[in-house]
Formats: sequence, structure tokens, C-alpha cells
Amino acid sequence: MDYVEEVFDRVRLQNPAQPEFHQAVREVLTTLRPVIARDEERYRREALLERMTTPERVILFRVPWVDDRGQVQVNNGFRVQFNSAIGPYKGGLRFHPSVNLGVIKFLGFEQVFKNALTGLPIGGGKGGADFDPKGKSDREVMAFCQSFMTELYRHIGADTDVPAGDIGVGGREIGYLYGQYKRIRGTYEGVLTGKGLTYGGSLARTEATGYGLLYLTEEMLKSNGKTLAGLTVAVSGAGNVATYAIQKAWQLGAKPVTCSDSTGWIYDPEGIDVATLKQVKEVRRARLTEYAAQRPGAEYHPGKGVWTVKCDVALPCATQNELGLEDAKALVANGCFAVAEGANMPTTLEATKYFQDHGILFCPGKAANAGGVATSALEMSQNSQRLSWTFQEVDSRLQGIMVNIFHMLDDAAKEYGMAGDYVAGANIAGFRKVAQAMEAQGIV
Ligand code: NDP
Repeated sequence: MDYVEEVFDRVRLQNPAQPEFHQAVREVLTTLRPVIARDEERYRREALLERMTTPERVILFRVPWVDDRGQVQVNNGFRVQFNSAIGPYKGGLRFHPSVNLGVIKFLGFEQVFKNALTGLPIGGGKGGADFDPKGKSDREVMAFCQSFMTELYRHIGADTDVPAGDIGVGGREIGYLYGQYKRIRGTYEGVLTGKGLTYGGSLARTEATGYGLLYLTEEMLKSNGKTLAGLTVAVSGAGNVATYAIQKAWQLGAKPVTCSDSTGWIYDPEGIDVATLKQVKEVRRARLTEYAAQRPGAEYHPGKGVWTVKCDVALPCATQNELGLEDAKALVANGCFAVAEGANMPTTLEATKYFQDHGILFCPGKAANAGGVATSALEMSQNSQRLSWTFQEVDSRLQGIMVNIFHMLDDAAKEYGMAGDYVAGANIAGFRKVAQAMEAQGIV
């Protein structure tokens, strides 16, 4: 058995019932084979892959809080500090009922490589809770956030671990979390990113993941002789990433025609109206049926099905494993020729393989959605300097970072004889940077 397979077996045995974590490790290790093969004995002796697939620290905690009826509720809180070889742990907090240790470990593992690709000094971590902010009052969300931070504060800090938002954690939640941290610690420091603009947030952070996704997609298309202008784009999700992906798609001359949430999806042949989408999702926190009610030309479909729409480019921006093999077949049959992941691991391994086998340009989330964390790192820089940069300055740095990421993947894939395989390129480029830093720092 080769070293990669040995490590994968070990991961499966030591982390039972964590399928998302196994899937993420499998995808990364498989594509690293050619790199490992060049130096297998050294990596094996150093147990480099065992160390890379084992988090430095896992924190599990109880989060008790009182709901509006006076009932005590208890949720599970998590923070996985995966790898700090190249900087303080950095990665979002997810509040969603589907959160468990395996999900947070998969996200933390992916984050290590993603953060390395940004070229900025940030390690990888992830956290969250199985708390659902949907349907909760503001007071309940605040009570939960305060209780969550009352434990988390002792494990984080501007130079140790800097969480951000993710699914279910937007500006409101970051505000409550930050307020509680400041109250307990008594310091005003950049311990969270995604903060409001009046208390240390960065301009363009809200837009960064969606915008970055489109900057990278445009660069991928350009280097393959195409451009977004005039293309039809299918987007899933209706949250932070999807909304700003849709906005930037319009700005680059494409027409985004779909969006979705966990109950249904919209097909708007005129193109998704960003103002209506924001009003429904960001302001009223309502379902997409309300979007359809306001746009007579738009169709609302309950359940899944967003990938059956005819498009040139598909941008999955909702959640993990939302695009399976049948979806991939439908997209290819309908003429889709490029896919870039706004969400983390939205495409199953089978669907990814199908895209690659059919010559579809495919960029994985750890590269395509890295604009969010990159801009978070820019927020950290501004907090350290006690300065705020303009929207244009942050946005143009973001654009430079995304273009650079694409060329890192492209070059790494070519170097190992896998031109056009951006999954392998992303894993190899991220791995090499983290591996070098880990080796330089000894057995820690
Ligand atoms: P939001 O909470 O803002 O939006 C998530 C969207 O996905 C919502 O429309 C939600 O629908 C939908 N969704 C969530 N879970 C499911 C599900 N199980 N099935 C179908 N739809 C679902 O999150 P973000 O936009 O911030 O994040 C989306 C993805 O992007 C995640 O994978 C996240 O990890 C990733 N990401 C986010 C970054 C960021 O900066 N925000 C950075 C990098 C990656 P509903 O409203 O019905 O729940």
C-alpha cells in the first residue's frame, strides 16, 4: 500500500462516522500523489501527512442559553484549530443544525490549503454550532452568541485564532460575538473578521467571496480563450456568497438566471434582480417564494433542481454536496462548460470526476472562494495598522489575489503534467507551502 493510501486508512479508522472529513481528505490526498511520490520516504519518516490530517487542537463545548419562552436550550459548540504553520488559525464559524465535528473538521482541513493559496500569513481553522438562527428573535440570537463567546474567548485572539462568519453567521452574529469578547477581555482587538464598518470591519468584506469567485472565474475563462461577457450563469444559494456572485456576474457582463435556498429555487429568465434578492433575503430574511411574488416573469420551484437550467457557467454557492452526479450530467448535457465552487465542497467527488472527464473547466472552492478569507486577512492588516482602506483599494487587492491564485493552480498543475486540472493544482500549490513551513518548524 502506498503512503497516501496508508494515511487515508488511518484517517478513516481514527475518525469514524465523519464522511465529509473523509471526503475532503480523500480528494486532497489523491491529487497529491505525484508530489508525495517524489519524496515519499522523507514524508513518511516525518509523518507529514499524518500531521497534516490531524488537527492541532479540537475544542468542544456546551452552549446553554434561554429562549423567549424562558426555556433553557443547549447546543454543541466547536472550534477546530487545524494548522498554524503559516499563521494564526483563521476560518469561519457556521451556525446550522447540520453542524457536527466531522463537518467542522472537513471545513478546517480545506481551510488550511485555501489560506495558503491566498499568499497571506494565515493558518487554518473552523468552528460553529448546531444552532439554527432561522426563526429566532434577535434577543435569542444575541443570547446564543454571548453564551458561545463566553467559552470561545479563552481560545482565540488577534495573534492566535481569528474566526469569521460562514453559513448562519453574518454581520448581526459577528456583532454580538465581538461585543461579548470585548466585554470579557476588555480589549479592542481584531479578534473576529466580518465586523461592521463602525467597529473595525473592512469595506468590501461583505462582497469579497462572491466578487472573488467571479474574478477567478473570469481569469480561468480568459486563460482558456473565453470571457464571461454575454454568458448565462446558474447560481445556487441565496446567501452572502450567492448574492454578491450574482452582482459581480452582472458587472462583468454575464446574466445570472438562478438562485436557491434550502426550500426551493428561482429561474428568472430576465436575470436575477439583485435589489429584490437582497430585500427578500438580507432585509426580510424571508423565503424565495417572496422573490417570485415580486417578479412576475420569474418561476419558483420547490425542492432541488437548479442545475437543470440551461447555462454556460455554473456557480454552486449554497453548501456541501449540493451538486451530485445527476446534476453534473444535466449541466453538461445542457452545454455548461465551466464550474467554479463558491461554497465549500458543493460538488461530490463523482460529479467532479464527471466534469473533468468531460473537459469542463472546474475550479474547486478552496481556490475559487478564497476571496472571503483573503479579505478577512486584509481586515486583520487594517486592524493592526488601525487604518481603514477604501473600497477600491480592498477590491483591487482582492482582484490581484484571485488572479494570482488562478495562476498558482494553473502553474502547479502544469508542473506535474496535469494541465487544466485545477483541483490537483490547488491542492499541490497549497500543500507545498504548508509542508515547507511545517518541515522548517520541526516536529511540533
Ligand atoms: P449564508 O448562510 O449566507 O447562505 C447560505 C445559502 O445556502 C442560503 O441560501 C441557504 O438557504 C443555502 N443552504 C444552506 N444549507 C443548505 C442546504 N443544506 N441545502 C440547500 N441550501 C442550503 O452562507 P454563505 O453564503 O456565507 O456560505 C455559502 C457557502 O459558501 C458555504 O459553503 C460556506 O462555507 C462557503 N463560504 C462562505 C464564505 C463567506 O465569506 N461567507 C467564504 C468561503 C466559503 P437557507 O436560507 O434556506 O438556509
